[in-house]
Amino acid sequence: MAIESSASKLNCRKCTNELKGFRGCNGKPEQPFIFQGKDLDRCPLKLITPESFWLIKLHNYFEQGFLPFEGSILRQPAKILEAFDIIDREKQRIKDARRK
Ligand SMILES: [Zn+2]
Repeated sequence: MAIESSASKLNCRKCTNELKGFRGCNGKPEQPFIFQGKDLDRCPLKLITPESFWLIKLHNYFEQGFLPFEGSILRQPAKILEAFDIIDREKQRIKDARRK
């Protein structure tokens, strides 16, 4: 499936030797990524789990009106709805920050 193959690209084990030192796959990064104004102390791909990637994908479909499981919103697993709330808040926070 297309989603699985794009998720598998988010795997730190696939970082090239050239990128490992740069990103900090095995230790302190030479050129840290900046996230929420802070330097990351490791490769950003170590922070994105396949599950969180998948939840963000599902949230995109949710915003287009598609629920991940059969039935109404009340039939969706609580864990999914909780994750969607977190993603909603985070997206809003990013939008607000861009407006400043
Ligand atoms: Zn890496």
